[in-house]
Amino acid sequence: MIQKKDILKVLSQIEDPDLHKDIVSLGFIKELVIDGSSVSFSIELTTAGCPLKNMFKTEAEKLVLSIDGVEKVQVVMTARQTRYGNSSDSLKKVKHVIAVASAKGGVGKSTIAATLACEFAAKGFKVGLLDTDLFGPSLPTLFNIHESQIVQRENMLIPMEYNGLKLMSFGFLLGDAPAIMRGPMVSGYIQQLLTTVEWGELDYLFIDMPPGTGDIQLTISQTIKLDGAVIVTTRSSLSLVDVARGILMFEKVQIPTLGVVENMAYFICDNCEKEHFIFGEKKSDLSERFGIETIAHIPVDSNRAKPFDTYETNAVNSDLADSLIRQVGKISADAVAPPEVKLLSDRVIFTWLGNPPIEIENHILRDACKCALCVDEYSGEKTLKTEDIPQDIHALEVTPLGNYAVSIQWSDGHTSSIYPYKTIRSIDSGRAG
Ligand code: ADP
Repeated sequence: MIQKKDILKVLSQIEDPDLHKDIVSLGFIKELVIDGSSVSFSIELTTAGCPLKNMFKTEAEKLVLSIDGVEKVQVVMTARQTRYGNSSDSLKKVKHVIAVASAKGGVGKSTIAATLACEFAAKGFKVGLLDTDLFGPSLPTLFNIHESQIVQRENMLIPMEYNGLKLMSFGFLLGDAPAIMRGPMVSGYIQQLLTTVEWGELDYLFIDMPPGTGDIQLTISQTIKLDGAVIVTTRSSLSLVDVARGILMFEKVQIPTLGVVENMAYFICDNCEKEHFIFGEKKSDLSERFGIETIAHIPVDSNRAKPFDTYETNAVNSDLADSLIRQVGKISADAVAPPEVKLLSDRVIFTWLGNPPIEIENHILRDACKCALCVDEYSGEKTLKTEDIPQDIHALEVTPLGNYAVSIQWSDGHTSSIYPYKTIRSIDSGRAG
């Protein structure tokens, strides 16, 4: 007779590549029913539209069919119900809100926000795009909409519907006139825009943030509940310092960074069709430095500099959406809880629940910093001199960064150290070996 435990045993061979655990321990298997020689169950993923869906289904069918006596298998793929994060009238039917940010202007943040909106719409999601830049709204230019008529219903603004996307921008309210405003007025306008647009039902709302990492960006992060942020950067000089600044700003308000998009990373030559990485190798060390992934490298492409027309024609890189959906799934599964951290005068102790503590001497940890001030951004060579680290170096403050890293403020005035959890574990295992 077919037993439930045998089915779970074979299914536990399937590992979720993002969460690094098998799908049985992750609690993905639901409604398992055995009826004679037929088996049916559902696999509940953490996020709808997960690109791994088909891989899990095929593998599960194959494994269960290999059990003696099983003649028929029915696998239904489902997704965990999203809890709506925002209760305001404006966003209460929006499942995920994702900020698209950059520390500097001109890196292509608005272009990437619009590209993401198009990619997600092309996958069948209901998508909105909100441009919150008061001083230089780009959405009217990006979509070539200069005569929008925003309708007001009761006290709410209704976003524009444009080829299947819902769009809203300060540009639609202000026209082409530049905004001249002082700080408090800006915050007030932004808060109004965040809370008075009636988005209706959406799977994803992308917020094109104003460039920078200051008060306006914090106002946005504190007014609404964001699932996470995508940071857009180019590999131009000092951009890694900017990425660190962006990560730390969002972490101040407990918003995880979902990943980085490296824009204008390469170009494809007309003659040889080869990808030329102008600013260095495709492989980026962001993951090693900050514990976050590079979601995509986007080429310099003259088509991207043209106005967006339909989302179908602008959706050209479906990997971009797939990678981001997987990141959202990882965050919602909350697979890795942050460690408990103890700061002592000579070392730092990290303890992950259920694991032995990892103790690292302050000197060694400070020396392992891979920020842009300690390691050359381009050559990857260490610029920090071990002998320059004060003998009495100690950590003043530790802040967990989402579920991937900690940032440490050191007594030598160095504040930009980010240590991915995997770096901490590798220092420990390097010494053990
Ligand atoms: P930001 O929002 O960071 O200020 P924009 O998205 O407005 O930047 O882009 C700045 C300029 O660069 C725009 O003219 C845009 O069309 C162009 N651009 C952005 N990304 C690309 C790309 N991948 N290829 C070619 N041009 C791009």
